[in-house]
Amino acid sequence: MNNQKPYDWLIVGAGFAGAVLAERLAEEAHRRVLVIDRRNHIGGNSHDAEDNHGVLLHSYGPHYFRTNRQEVFDYLSRFTQWRPVEYKILSWTDGRYWQFPINLNTFEQIIGRPSSSEEMTETLAKWRVPIDNPKNSEEIIVSQVGWKLYEKFFKNYTQKQWKRAPKDLDASVCGRIPIRTNRDDRYLSERIQAIPAEGYTRLFERLLNHPRITVRLGCDFKEIRDSVPYRRLAYTGMIDEYYDFCYGPLPYRSLRFERETLEQEFYQPAMQVNYPNDHDFTRIVEIKHATGQQLPVTTIVREYPADYGPGGEAYYPIPTTASHSLYEQYAQRAQSEANVSFIGRLATYRYYNMDEVVKSSLDEFQRLKTL
Ligand code: FAD
Ligand code: UDP
Repeated sequence: MNNQKPYDWLIVGAGFAGAVLAERLAEEAHRRVLVIDRRNHIGGNSHDAEDNHGVLLHSYGPHYFRTNRQEVFDYLSRFTQWRPVEYKILSWTDGRYWQFPINLNTFEQIIGRPSSSEEMTETLAKWRVPIDNPKNSEEIIVSQVGWKLYEKFFKNYTQKQWKRAPKDLDASVCGRIPIRTNRDDRYLSERIQAIPAEGYTRLFERLLNHPRITVRLGCDFKEIRDSVPYRRLAYTGMIDEYYDFCYGPLPYRSLRFERETLEQEFYQPAMQVNYPNDHDFTRIVEIKHATGQQLPVTTIVREYPADYGPGGEAYYPIPTTASHSLYEQYAQRAQSEANVSFIGRLATYRYYNMDEVVKSSLDEFQRLKTL
């Protein structure tokens, strides 16, 4: 028998979903919370750390915080100060850099002379394929800019990233990328764009540093589910894994990160360069452009899309009609659980950004705080 006093909550996963819920439960609802993560660090995929050369890197790919939600920004601002950043990226193809996402500057590069928003709008009206309700990632792009720009910037990048044709992916995947007829050259359109001034990991340390929160790292749920007493469970891992893949595995996409440190201040002209048509990697990220670190060396990270298999890292749910239906079976089963909440990107199988995950944990807390 286990005589330990039960925790009010066991939270599986120390990423944004788990850490925000833990903080709220401990601070506002005065609950005793155990947070576990099978990785040996907090922060989930948003974790960052310095490499051997002192360069602060985002461990699992670039994490550009952005939001239109004041509530989320205000909440996180209790745990961090911010460094405002306008995320700017370029695309490399046909042996040169292109402004990306597509805007008036890109249009001028394409036609090889100065232009105007009016001319770009009129031209896109001729190039675009009229589709009333774009149903997939091919249709959403060709309905805005036509085949030529779709093929130049989207078709092969998407195929490489997802190992699927854009027409087999939800419109929301490529639809995330703005297309503009002005000179706004930011990658993202949200009103607030900033990076935690001392990094994400420091933000997580402050979120979880609470007398009613205990954190155990390097600890898999499976190892302790029967030995640690708790009243309620919040699970932020893969929902299919939680249910032992009873309806079959959900598809995920993984990545391989290849780092290279160079004895120079900067390697490339932007924090991210996308490679739609060259190489096996999709992008090279030099996050130093965003963190503002002043160092004589730099580290770049090449990002190679990879198949996901057991033991690997499930970075992306794959948004297709078939995967949504399979997920729905798991979601139905999850609804019948009285004492378990499924939150976050993997447990709800959504291609969520960080602010969306924070928002959903804050909302979930409102539902759970009296339980
Ligand atoms: P996670 O951060 O994945 O945390 C889940 C945690 O649960 C993990 O640490 C995992 O180890 C742990 N876990 C799972 N199963 C178990 C188990 N059985 N036992 C113990 N622990 C377990 N968002 C943005 O807003 N801007 C960006 O620029 C951005 N870029 C991204 C780039 C990449 C390459 C990726 C993959 C994601 C990006 N995101 C970005 C999304 C962002 O990472 C997610 O929104 C956020 O991390 C989700 O938080 P989460 O807590 O739901 O999941
Ligand atoms: N995309 C593309 N070309 C690009 C950038 C993005 O085709 O140069 C598509 C691709 O399918 C990608 C999706 O748009 O997966 C979303 O891009 P984002 O940069 O938001 O991806 P993430 O940072 O989430 O990997």
